[in-house]
Amino acid sequence: MARHECGFEAPIHCKKCGRPLDSNERTGLFCPHCGRRVSILCPGCGRLW
Ligand SMILES: [Zn+2]
Ligand SMILES: [Zn+2]
Repeated sequence: MARHECGFEAPIHCKKCGRPLDSNERTGLFCPHCGRRVSILCPGCGRLW
């Protein structure tokens, strides 16, 4: 489960390999399987994830 700094949580999956994405404050949203970093707007607060 990916969790944004605003507290929003969502099961977001990697478009490349389909695995659940992980996130932390240092790296942002990323895929632990293929290492892909993902930039999206957080649906909870509208800022960049
Ligand atoms: Zn992936
Ligand atoms: Zn947010």
